Amino acid sequence: MGQAGSMSDPAACLFDLDGLLLDTEPLHARAWREAAARFGADLNGDQLLALRGRRRLDCTLLVLDWILEASGRELTAEQLLAVRQPIAEALLPEAAPMPGAIQLIERCHTEGIPMALATSSSRDAVALKARPHPWIGLIQTRVHGDDPELVAGKPAPDVFLLAASRLGVAANQCWAFEDSPAGARSAAAAGCRVHVLVPPGLGAGDYPEGVQLLDSLEQVELSRAC
Ligand SMILES: [Mg+2]
Repeated sequence: MGQAGSMSDPAACLFDLDGLLLDTEPLHARAWREAAARFGADLNGDQLLALRGRRRLDCTLLVLDWILEASGRELTAEQLLAVRQPIAEALLPEAAPMPGAIQLIERCHTEGIPMALATSSSRDAVALKARPHPWIGLIQTRVHGDDPELVAGKPAPDVFLLAASRLGVAANQCWAFEDSPAGARSAAAAGCRVHVLVPPGLGAGDYPEGVQLLDSLEQVELSRAC
C-alpha cells in the first residue's frame, strides 16, 4: 500500500559519489584544511561545507582566495594542489560506504533501473576511491568532473543533463541523489526529482525547494511492486 504509483517510478537513477555513496567528505575536508593550514589559513566549518560537491578546480580557486585573505599569500593552483593532492590520495581509499548505499545500488541493479554516476570527481579520483568497492562497478555510465563533454561543473545542471542523455532518458524522468547544496541545485536545475541525503551541519534551508530530504539512503523507496 505505498504512496507511489508507477508515475513516480524513476526512468533512471543518477548518483552523486562523494558524501552520497561513499563517506569521503570528511576526508576531502581534512585534506583541504591541512593544505590551507600549511599556507597560513585556518578554514572554518562554513568554508569546508561550501567546498562540498564542487570540482577540484572550483574548490582550488575558492581556497586560493581564502589563503590570500588570511595570510596575504598569492599561490598558484599548482602550488596548492602539490600539497593537497598527496594528503587526499592517502586518505580517500579508506572511505567507507554510506549506510544503505550498497543495498540501493544492488536494488536498482536487480530491478533493472538504469543508473549513472554524476560526479564532480575526476576520472582518476573516482578510480582511486572506487577500487575497494566493487559494487560501484554496477554503475557503468559515468560523467566525471573532468569529462571532455562537460562544460560547467555543479551547481550548473550540465553533469545531470549529460548523465541522463548518456542513458537515453529525459532528465525530468530521473531521480537524482545528492548530498551537497551545489549538487542539489545542479540536479534541480536539470529537472530531476532530487533526493538529498542531508549531511551534519546542513538543513532544509540550504537546499532548493521541492527536494526530498533523507536522513539515510535506507529510507529510499523504489516502488516497482504493486
Ligand atoms: Mg556529494
